[in-house]
Amino acid sequence: MYPQTKALTHIRMHPTMLVTGNGMKQQVQDPSLSGGKLTQQNQNADSRRLQFMPVSRKDMDMRGWDAIDFLFISGDAYVDHPSFGHAMISRLLESEGFRVGMIAQPDWRGTPEARRRILERMGVPRLGVLISTGVLDSMVNNYTAAGRKRGQDSYSPGGKTGRRPDHALEVYVSMVRETFGDIPVIAGGLEPSLRRFTHYDYWADALRPSVMSDCDIDIMVYGAGERAIMEIASLLDRGVPVRKMRSLRNTVVLAPLEELPGKLRAAVETGDSSIVILPSQEAVSRDRKAFARAFMLAYREQDPIRGKPLLQQAADGRYLVQHPPQKPLSEAEMDRLYAFPYARAWHPMYDKEGGVPALAEVAFSLTSHRGCFGGCTFCAIGFHQGRIIQARSTESVVQEAELLVRQPSFKGYIHDVGGPTANFRRPACKLQKENGACAHRECLFPKPCRNLETSHEAYMDLLRRVRNVRGVKKAFVRSGIRYDFALLDPTGRFIPELVEHHVSGQLKVAPEHVSGSVLACMGKPGKDTYDRFVKQYRQANENVGMDQFLVPYFISGHPGSTLRDAVELAVYLRRSGTIPEQVQQFIPIPGTLAGAMYWSGYDPRSLKPVHVPRTEREQAMQRALLQYSDPGNRPLVMAALRETGREDLIGFGPDCLIPPRLKPIDRPGTVPYHERGNGRVQKPVRAQRTEEGKTTVKTVGETTKNPPVRKKRPETKGRTPR
Ligand code: SF4
Repeated sequence: MYPQTKALTHIRMHPTMLVTGNGMKQQVQDPSLSGGKLTQQNQNADSRRLQFMPVSRKDMDMRGWDAIDFLFISGDAYVDHPSFGHAMISRLLESEGFRVGMIAQPDWRGTPEARRRILERMGVPRLGVLISTGVLDSMVNNYTAAGRKRGQDSYSPGGKTGRRPDHALEVYVSMVRETFGDIPVIAGGLEPSLRRFTHYDYWADALRPSVMSDCDIDIMVYGAGERAIMEIASLLDRGVPVRKMRSLRNTVVLAPLEELPGKLRAAVETGDSSIVILPSQEAVSRDRKAFARAFMLAYREQDPIRGKPLLQQAADGRYLVQHPPQKPLSEAEMDRLYAFPYARAWHPMYDKEGGVPALAEVAFSLTSHRGCFGGCTFCAIGFHQGRIIQARSTESVVQEAELLVRQPSFKGYIHDVGGPTANFRRPACKLQKENGACAHRECLFPKPCRNLETSHEAYMDLLRRVRNVRGVKKAFVRSGIRYDFALLDPTGRFIPELVEHHVSGQLKVAPEHVSGSVLACMGKPGKDTYDRFVKQYRQANENVGMDQFLVPYFISGHPGSTLRDAVELAVYLRRSGTIPEQVQQFIPIPGTLAGAMYWSGYDPRSLKPVHVPRTEREQAMQRALLQYSDPGNRPLVMAALRETGREDLIGFGPDCLIPPRLKPIDRPGTVPYHERGNGRVQKPVRAQRTEEGKTTVKTVGETTKNPPVRKKRPETKGRTPR
């Protein structure tokens, strides 16, 4: 049913690209990146605009275009950098000779006439409209876990909020229909990808049907679908109606049974095992267990090698069909995607507002691969990008590092070299190539699979090559490593080398919790594994005379976490002298296993009931326990300890979380009374700001280079002397 779609290696070369001796594509130096006379500040406006896709009729005229083939609508501000999906897909289409016009964050609040003027400013696109609502789901971007409006949007100019609507896909699709009528509409990006089946929407606290039912989309490309996009574009170009495209890999369509391809129709009618039929939208809406079962059935089929077409009947009787993911891109295909002539800048139209903050995060970072075999249940990467790692060649990443070095604003530091999980540089095992990723087990959980390839040599080689690029002072790893996988490195060299060369003063890791039952719900390794890593990390620091922080992230309120589990975590933090500065409150993201757990109350892997901290009070207590030493949290911590029968933790003992009484001096922002003078907390240094919602903590003893000398205290009973 699914012939191998054509490889991306046929991509026509852009005029500003050349082929180097080793066959690699390399970007011809863009003047703005060369350190020459022209810089982003003093280039004339027109030549700067020419580095981007047109955003206006004037831009089209400068290029001599009379029309565009595709209009690309983006929910993020327009940044031409490979970390942004809209940039990569528009460059890919451009490389094939398609003319793409870009409209980023169109204002949806005006009159129909005003909206039409915005979308029509480059005329009617010849082939269709592509819509991506951005790097994040619009609801995650707009709201915190507590349902409050966020104060900043890094993907909008000036970091301002209010530039994207809630449920942006629905809004943009209706704007397109209002303006262009029956034009082909192709949706892609994270939001539709995670909301492709009936899903739980945390902000509405209800199940919602697939976005294909909610919005008038012709075809959706989920995950990373470069091949699907190219196939759709070339079929449209050949005059094939979009409604005939019912069998392309990596796409989702919604159609009546009689309009599905013959094989699918026959399989539905005969109950053939070549497809998987999920419980219908109606069934999952009625029955939470059916929802959990449907999620797991879909989750297991997200594989390009062995995945089967998935069908779910919508409320109106039509069938939602998800065809299997595209075959993994080869190294050469990945390299080509990163060799396009990106401007690596925000569009000049944002200069007045100070640019787009998200660019700073990625401007001097290198993406080495996509995909993740970590299997954390609260994360959507596996569902979106798949479990099979698709990597760029070392040469390609090094060439990009050389390109960064030539940028005038480069200060010698590469901020990151990695991907969703930095040290997953290669596919988990050799078997994946033939069989795909296993449907019924994870690679690292509950124990590392015996087929797992644990060598870190390829990643270490990449890091060495990047840090040795002339002009690079340091190359850091900030995208997060899986410490359990790092511990498996057979040479034992990875952690020491990481510590010596690639930690920027603090390393972020994600133990997430310490309770065995919660970690099992998260698909994470046990606490002992984390403790082993901490030991090795400290030892590696000591060996090279360094004292770098370890910043562990913890999640509060994850499904499976009872109040007792939260108390256990608080005691662990107390014993290890860890003070969280921020707490990450669990958000059930659509397309995640933990999200399905949250709504259904069942673990979709076993269909056993699972505790879900659902009430605001319990969530607040769990959150407060993580920051038990904040005097403002005292009432909640006290209530939690009483409710769990752990009054033994109220007092002055080594494990005690709060003192029996609040002293007048204990006000929010002061060092808590019971921790003052005990030598464990000494003026904690604030951690570097991380993305909102993340917990950042300091491991005491690692926070200061010269820890205060602890005075010997006289034995006291019951009270800590002041
Ligand atoms: S065999 Fe093991 S390492 Fe390979 S995909 Fe399956 S679980 Fe992962």
